[in-house]
Amino acid sequence: MTALELVSLLTQAIYVLIFVLVTWTALRRRTRTSVDIALFFGAIATAIVESRIVTTFGLSQVELITDIVTLLVIAMPYLLLRLVDDFSDVPAVVSRLAEAGVVLSAIAFVVTVGTVPPPILIAIVIYFAALSTYSAVAFVLAGRRSAGVTRRRLQAVAAGTVLLGVAILVAGFAPLLPASLAGLPTGLTQVLALASAIAYFIGFAPPQILRRAWQEPELRSFLRRAASLPRMPDTRSIVHALQDGAGSTLGARAAIGLFDPETNTLRFQDPHGVLPSEIGQSDYLAWRVFETQHAEYYPDAARAHPALASAYRTRGVRSLLIAPISAANQRLGALEAYTDHQPVFSEDDLDLVRLLADQAAVILESRALIDEAARVQAHEEAARLKEDFISAAAHDLKTPLTTLVAQAQFLERRAETQPSAPADLPGLQRIVREGRRLSALVLELLDASRLEQGKLVGEREPVDLVELARDVARRDSYEGRQITVVADAPVVGSYDPRRIGQVLENLVENAVKYSPEESEVRIVIAHRNGEAFIDVTDRGIGIPAGDLPQMFQRFHRGTNVDDRRFAGMGLGLFICKGIVEQHGGRVSVESREGAGSTFKVVLPMETTR
Ligand code: ADP
Repeated sequence: MTALELVSLLTQAIYVLIFVLVTWTALRRRTRTSVDIALFFGAIATAIVESRIVTTFGLSQVELITDIVTLLVIAMPYLLLRLVDDFSDVPAVVSRLAEAGVVLSAIAFVVTVGTVPPPILIAIVIYFAALSTYSAVAFVLAGRRSAGVTRRRLQAVAAGTVLLGVAILVAGFAPLLPASLAGLPTGLTQVLALASAIAYFIGFAPPQILRRAWQEPELRSFLRRAASLPRMPDTRSIVHALQDGAGSTLGARAAIGLFDPETNTLRFQDPHGVLPSEIGQSDYLAWRVFETQHAEYYPDAARAHPALASAYRTRGVRSLLIAPISAANQRLGALEAYTDHQPVFSEDDLDLVRLLADQAAVILESRALIDEAARVQAHEEAARLKEDFISAAAHDLKTPLTTLVAQAQFLERRAETQPSAPADLPGLQRIVREGRRLSALVLELLDASRLEQGKLVGEREPVDLVELARDVARRDSYEGRQITVVADAPVVGSYDPRRIGQVLENLVENAVKYSPEESEVRIVIAHRNGEAFIDVTDRGIGIPAGDLPQMFQRFHRGTNVDDRRFAGMGLGLFICKGIVEQHGGRVSVESREGAGSTFKVVLPMETTR
């Protein structure tokens, strides 16, 4: 056997192998495209097998069979064009020309009984070349539109088509060459044919290992993008990012529907406006896939789902690939990919959609776990706070209560032993003072718990903050200290006067408590751009810089505050912040340790009701 014969045998073996493989695919999943591919290679394989049988057994060529084979070969470029038409729209005029070409070539062969005159032969070869070129270009363009395995396969198919076209061109022109060059085209044709066979094999029947290798980069880039997704702020943003990622990986548009067990529906946030936002147990394709848990390819979306046909048409959706999103027996939703053309290799695209859906499931599951962990943490935090709260409250209530009980017992004993002695006024005053302190602490605790329930602020009414501040400054709860109120004009807004008064009183009490006896405490009130500004300033111990960020947190007390010297629970500022925020305002503090503090309250001056 010569080298050329070996090449020829190899080429033929590959073409027959491709035919067997694509026929198997077409039998398993009958789509127009898979049948057209099988037809195309059927034509080639028949021609090859016939010529092999004839040469191997030295049979004389049977006229009829030879004619059938010739006709099949003539039909090849037309079959290729049919295939192109399956996934991109071949203009009607090109189709008609191709059909006319097949018919005319066939007539020419039949009429001339196989010995076609050179001009007609040239015309037929040119027709072959033109159709092959057209198809090759169409495959290249389809490749550009696709992604992953499909893209690579289409590139291989385009290469195979070009090589086959050139091989036919060379073979077709061979009879026209002078006898001295006769050997050249045969060798060239054989080599080109072998190259086209290999390219077609890679394109139409690539081995699994090659598909996996082609899939990897796409998947890897999707995973790279996806790695940070579970940490996004909410599931909605994750779904959006997943849709974008899946879309660009697939070279299509994608939408994800998440299962909502409460309504028993799939909820879509389809950015392309094709799907309704909620899909229930109707005959919607996504629901079908979700229920059966089987990925599906719908070549003609409008036909598969007539109710959405007009939406599909207006938004340029031709076919659909849908895969279920599930993780460990848990059905989470479905991933839909829309394409404006039919995928040539639907099984590969469907494979990719399946893989992406699996990845989406992993990401959504991680997110659910993160949420669950956060819920557990919040629960533990709440339990810890409750414990803190109880122990802080118990501790702070105990001190005045002990004084109160001791003082009362002393008075009781005194009354028993010296019934006629005059009343111990300082002792009684101490009882009243500690009783008041106790009652203030209990009120603080109640306020903090009301604040949690959002029930702290009551009816609002027009309030002049300047007048209110003067009123608060006049109260006698500041150890006789002078409080200065500075304001140019009334500052009126709609507030709960009792609660805003409480804020002012608390800030002034703190200013007094944490500053030396003789130092000044002042309230400055002003307004600007529809907002009221209240500053409470003292020249006291100040707040260490490290404490400032936590100053308004529940139970937080400055590290420069000695519990025995300054009584308190660390709830006052927390309550002030809550009251101000429930009025739509904000609080802040500026302070330097040892130099004093200014607590700043800003309240909106809404129109009074
Ligand atoms: P309490 O005064 O009962 O501890 P607050 O919530 O009113 O609770 O205040 C929390 C902490 O903020 C105080 O313990 C103190 O450390 C600090 N603080 C509040 N006001 C002042 C102030 N005017 N000067 C210095 N530190 C202050």
